[in-house]
Amino acid sequence: MKNDKHKDAEIFARLLRETKLSDKITIGKFILQGKKGVKDTIQYNQAGLDILRNEHEYTFPILDGDLQVSLQLYENISNYYRLFCYTRINGKQGMTFSVNLTTEKESENVIYLTQRIKFAEQYEGSATLAQAHRRQKQIVFCDLLRKLGFDITDNSDLILGIFDPTKKSLVNTSVDKFLNDFIVVSILKGHFQGNKGYQLEILPTYNKLDYIFTGKDDEIENLPLKIVENKSKRNIPLGMRYKVLKKDDFKCVACGHNANDGAKLHIDHKTPFSLGGLTELNNLQTLCSDCNISKSNKYIDA
Ligand SMILES: [Zn+2]
Repeated sequence: MKNDKHKDAEIFARLLRETKLSDKITIGKFILQGKKGVKDTIQYNQAGLDILRNEHEYTFPILDGDLQVSLQLYENISNYYRLFCYTRINGKQGMTFSVNLTTEKESENVIYLTQRIKFAEQYEGSATLAQAHRRQKQIVFCDLLRKLGFDITDNSDLILGIFDPTKKSLVNTSVDKFLNDFIVVSILKGHFQGNKGYQLEILPTYNKLDYIFTGKDDEIENLPLKIVENKSKRNIPLGMRYKVLKKDDFKCVACGHNANDGAKLHIDHKTPFSLGGLTELNNLQTLCSDCNISKSNKYIDA
């Protein structure tokens, strides 16, 4: 088993290495122009073990300075693989985001590139307020990512890519879109975390915490304490996602576009869960992010 996993992860890594990304990334309607390469060495783990071998490093000039970005892929001692994004700006560096290479028994050797969106930064003062603040950020950030066309589950898991080693390709998006999206989520997450040394001018800031830390417990009431609930019956399991894609021949059932046409494919409840639709194969369908967004708008408008 270990060898198969290793081989599949290596196939994925090679695909990433061989894909040349343009020097600009797209965040919704915004374009962040950068250039390939970084001035400083951004090395968090042992040299030589990064399976991406510095193939995906970029510098983006932003208001705060030159934001250097390095993607690195590592295998840990338990043979799990994880793709990391490190940033460095004005001498401050940190890890902003990572995705696991996850396999599921249900869908053979398919590799899901997924990670839960959550915030873990610490603040001085009330632990309860800090927790509420992190949850707020999680809700706002997941909402923003959905609006930008990302596939976020009800458990706040981001599904960034689904890789089929036998096809040697991603089945729900293209490799350059995947790389673009991974960098976008990482940079936005760094902005939201607020402790990575930069802020993007195109987004509001969520890090002005000083004023809420007066130590008065009654201020907790001013913050929505709503937790992103684990809506387990509504949540579509990873293993089922590949089955739905396969059933629909890896195409959007509404417009027919697939990953090769530049579409990002999501899995959707045909009859919405809120209207009694079940999380079963026959009530699930493949929709591209554009059709999915117009469908959810239609339900909101109705
Ligand atoms: Zn479509």
